[in-house]
Amino acid sequence: MSELALRAEKLDAADELAAVRERFVLDEVVYLDGNSLGALPAAVPGRVDDVVRRQWGSLRIRSWDESGWWTAPERIGDRIAPLVGAAAGQIVVGDSTSVNVFKALVGAVRLARPAGESRDEIVVDATTFPTDGYIAESAARLTGCTLRPVTPGQVPGVLSDRTAAVLLNHVDYRTGRLHDLPSLTAAVHAVGAVSVWDLCHSAGALPVGLDEHGVDLAVGCTYKYLNGGPGSPAYLYVRRDLQDRFDSPLPGWNSHAEPFGMRPDYEPAPGALRGRVGTPDILSMLALEAALDVWDGVPVEAVRAKSLALTDFFLECVEEYVAAGLVESLTPVAHEERGSQVALRCADAGDVMKRLIERGVVGDFRHPDVLRFGFTPLYVSFAEVERAARVLGETVAG
Ligand SMILES: *Cc1c(COP(=O)(O)O)cnc(C)c1O
Repeated sequence: MSELALRAEKLDAADELAAVRERFVLDEVVYLDGNSLGALPAAVPGRVDDVVRRQWGSLRIRSWDESGWWTAPERIGDRIAPLVGAAAGQIVVGDSTSVNVFKALVGAVRLARPAGESRDEIVVDATTFPTDGYIAESAARLTGCTLRPVTPGQVPGVLSDRTAAVLLNHVDYRTGRLHDLPSLTAAVHAVGAVSVWDLCHSAGALPVGLDEHGVDLAVGCTYKYLNGGPGSPAYLYVRRDLQDRFDSPLPGWNSHAEPFGMRPDYEPAPGALRGRVGTPDILSMLALEAALDVWDGVPVEAVRAKSLALTDFFLECVEEYVAAGLVESLTPVAHEERGSQVALRCADAGDVMKRLIERGVVGDFRHPDVLRFGFTPLYVSFAEVERAARVLGETVAG
């Protein structure tokens, strides 16, 4: 056994999260794509079966009350809250991340200019996952703002009393770079603007500290590190003291103060549920609720510590197993700048990833030349990390 394989064994033996893997349905494949689609938690199939057969099949309409369907968006939001450092009552689950980016960003511009204020710029991360950029462009047109796409590092330099809202990613989806949420949020606040953070690649992988750092609005998806399943609903965080001024651009009957009053005039409900729109997608939402059970007794700090240990170990194994010059890491070495993935630039990356998958190591390929490996601390072992790097070394050697 190689020295690294022995080290992996020791690291796995000392891993306090090792047993959490049993809460998932996994096989011999090394699954390093949980940052795209989290693995299936073992409790989900049974729960979905109950929701479909009993709650829908037998109780039918009664389930809106008796099975807690109606209140699921807030209830499940409160389950996500501790994972992102939020007190209860500030998160609702529903709709896609894209739709929530729209609600949050237009809502942010409205918050930033109460009567009389003429702020007219939206700053957006130029390296963002495309959907956020497309929506920011549309939100800018709708609100009469100019869009300023800049890299997160350039954000402090472009903020001014014209800035209305700033949309940033906590972790870059391509490179795995972790951005400095506390200091960027403070910089946004210093000019009186409103911050919107996209947590898609951080929630469930590292502590976020929404309340602690005074974040205004945040969104995130639940099918990556939160393992909610394909297309599981996203969430929207609205800080408590902003909720009564949050003016959603998508006011639906679900966020009405009296939804069953069927009144022609809109009056927003108090609290976080003002972020709701229409009828929630109950099947996906309750699958997500079951998926969140895997977090019972799992502190986010332990997840972060293991995530860093996994990515450190992967980088070390790549260094050892991959011939010099064949791959180049785009992921920062410094822990305070690293999310829970490693991105490697590599010639013929698309083809290399195909061959890795054929050999039982699943990551993904991002155009044009990036191999992306996501490390979900709840179920990835150090032995798998060692194997992935070894197979990668053999694959890129040809
Ligand atoms: C995954 C991801 C999304 C996904 O948006 P959907 O509306 O769920 O398709 C959006 N933004 C970022 C930054 C992401 O990483």
